[in-house]
Amino acid sequence: MTDQNASHTPFSLAHAQDEHLSTHLIHHGYKPPSEFEAPQPGVFKASTVFFPNVAAMRQREWKDKSAYTYGTHGTPTTFTLEERLCALEGGSHCVLTPSGLSAISVVSFTILKTGGHVLIPDNAYGPNKVLAEGELEAFGISHTYYDAMNPADLAAKIQSNTQLVWLEAPGSLSMEFPDLIEMVKICKDRSVLTALDNTWGAGIAFKPFNLLGNSELSVDFTIHALTKYPSGGGDVLMGSVMTRNESLGLKMKLTHMRLGLCVGANDVESVLRSLPTMPLRYAAQDQIARELAQWWQGQAACVQVLHPALLGSPGHQHWKNLCASQGGSGHAAGLFSVMLDPRLSQEKVDAFCDELKLFKIGYSWGGPISLVVPYKLETVRSSWPSDLQKGHLVRFSTGFENANDLIEDLRQSSQKNLIF
Ligand SMILES: *Cc1c(COP(=O)(O)O)cnc(C)c1O
Repeated sequence: MTDQNASHTPFSLAHAQDEHLSTHLIHHGYKPPSEFEAPQPGVFKASTVFFPNVAAMRQREWKDKSAYTYGTHGTPTTFTLEERLCALEGGSHCVLTPSGLSAISVVSFTILKTGGHVLIPDNAYGPNKVLAEGELEAFGISHTYYDAMNPADLAAKIQSNTQLVWLEAPGSLSMEFPDLIEMVKICKDRSVLTALDNTWGAGIAFKPFNLLGNSELSVDFTIHALTKYPSGGGDVLMGSVMTRNESLGLKMKLTHMRLGLCVGANDVESVLRSLPTMPLRYAAQDQIARELAQWWQGQAACVQVLHPALLGSPGHQHWKNLCASQGGSGHAAGLFSVMLDPRLSQEKVDAFCDELKLFKIGYSWGGPISLVVPYKLETVRSSWPSDLQKGHLVRFSTGFENANDLIEDLRQSSQKNLIF
């Protein structure tokens, strides 16, 4: 079988309507080798790719995906996943990286130069801040953390040398939903590039290159930890970087190539296999998370439930404007946190997590098994956020267990441990 047998439609900017996303992710432009049609695309593995002659070798161009040259520059398998992710999130240029965190580093290394400055929300995914404090600082790139819930704070902190603003919706762990539209407008007015960590929205909750259906309201880059929803199994690490801009797309591909980043074909195959069910999985975990979050609202030990779709949760109105703009119940990931009463000791909170039977203690989300992690928020934020109650933060990610069974599990451990 030669690679010519699998052809690829060029990237298309016509994107799936929200309600037809499942259909679109299954019936997507992919031509199988002749007389072999099957549900899944073929898996192509290569470091070496053969050329028919030296002239062809010299002519082939990988950057526009018109040809294959070497495994790190892409295979029919990686190109297929990149195309499908573009259809999902609404971009036109995509690269795959070995983890979500390496996708963050590709954006930072593509855009930031010595003497430059980057703005990161104080509630960002922690390792993004750690990268800024480590390598970026060492390369002479400064950073400032801003309050994601206060666009005026972002505007005030943009400097003449600011090259990039990171955005995240909602914030990691504390789940406050920012005014993404206002922040994108501020950055556009000041001609500063934006990159959104879109792991939570996953291309389902809202369209980052087309906010509120307006293509002028667009971020410049998204990154996505495919480790979470697209994998869905808790068994693959991968990330993607995406843009809609031709010249940024080329820059991103060159940085990605120079850093030598690539992904394994078997991992790509796993994500391709999981992707068609993602909208259904997202909706199911959303439903379960909302039921659990509502249960927590009635518990004496809980002083605040942090779930953007819940009335009263910080930034709920921003979530509603962006993710439920069509009316209805809107979309949210299967992720929420609770703030437990500060009068409880850390030992009791830890014992509560330990005593859960169905919830496993572990990082990440989007897999089949529900997870719990207690966090010490004061160690990851520069100051205690004004819209958060003081307390012990515990984050839950919902799997696919029955919601009543999960609530029963929370109840049994609460009754033993969350007593003053
Ligand atoms: C998990 C996660 C990442 C990083 O993904 P890895 O594949 O674990 O490196 C980045 N951003 C967010 C918001 C995440 O939840």
